[in-house]
Amino acid sequence: MDKIKISFSKPIESQKNPSIFIYNLLVNLNEKDMGSAVFNTFSVLSAAQFKYSEFFLFTCSCGTPQCAGFHDVIQQKIINNHVYWYFPKENYYKNKKIEYVFDKSEFFNEINHAKEMILELAKKNFFAESMIENMSDEDMNSIYVSKKLQEMYVHYQSGENFYLFLQNNANSLLNKKFIFEYENQISKIEYSIEGLLSKFSLTPDYHAGFSKIKQKNSLFLIKYVNLAMNGKAEGFKKFLKKYLKKEQLSLSEMFDDSFDISYDLMIENLTLKEL
Ligand SMILES: [Zn+2]
Repeated sequence: MDKIKISFSKPIESQKNPSIFIYNLLVNLNEKDMGSAVFNTFSVLSAAQFKYSEFFLFTCSCGTPQCAGFHDVIQQKIINNHVYWYFPKENYYKNKKIEYVFDKSEFFNEINHAKEMILELAKKNFFAESMIENMSDEDMNSIYVSKKLQEMYVHYQSGENFYLFLQNNANSLLNKKFIFEYENQISKIEYSIEGLLSKFSLTPDYHAGFSKIKQKNSLFLIKYVNLAMNGKAEGFKKFLKKYLKKEQLSLSEMFDDSFDISYDLMIENLTLKEL
C-alpha cells in the first residue's frame, strides 16, 4: 500500500497585502516530497471525495496548471477500501510510478485534516498560495474558503454523474443510430452516437476518455448524448438540425433525390427516426 501525507509549509507574509499570510500545502508520497509546486487546494480537496474524479494536483500561482508545466490530470477511483490515483504517463508530477493505491481511511485522514486546517487558518488570515490569485480583499475570510470548496464539490459531482451515466448506458448508447426522412426519402447519412463517441478515444472502462469528454469542446457531444438517452426526441431533433445547418450539408449529400424546396425549409421539415 502507498502512503500519502499532506503537510503545511511555513507561512510567509504576503507582499501584496501585509495583513495576510501565505502558505503552501506539501504532498509527500511514500516518504518522498513532491517538491514545492503550488498545491491545487480547492480542486484536490473537493475532488478527493468522489469515486470518479480527476484533478490537477498542482497548479501555477496564476491559477493555470499548464503554465507551471502540469499538462494532464490525475485520475482518481475509489473502490472498496482503496483510493487509486493514476498519474499521466508523462512525468509532470515527479511521481515514481503511474498507479498509487492508498488505504481509504488513511487517505481521508489526510484530506479531511487538510480541509479542517485550511478553514481554521483562514479565520486567522492565513491562506494557501493557490487560493489568493482570485481573492479580493473582501474574500479574505473563512466563509469564502468554505463557499469555494462547496462550489468545487458541485463541479466534481457533475463530472462524476456524467461518468456514471456513460458507464451505465454505454452499450445502449453505442448501438443507437438515427436517420432523417423527408417525403419518404431516407437520408444517406446515419448519425450514430458511437461515431461521435469514437472521436474521443474511449477505452473499455472509459477511463482514458474521461477527461477529453468533459473538455469544453465536447459540450456538443454531452448534450447530444444526454438528449438522445433521455428520450427527448424533439430536443434531439432540434439539436441535430442545428448541427446540419452548421455543417452546411448540401441536399445532394443527404438525399438521392433533389427537392424543390429551400435548404432551410427542408431542414425544418425533416423527420428524425431511430433505426
Ligand atoms: Zn502562471
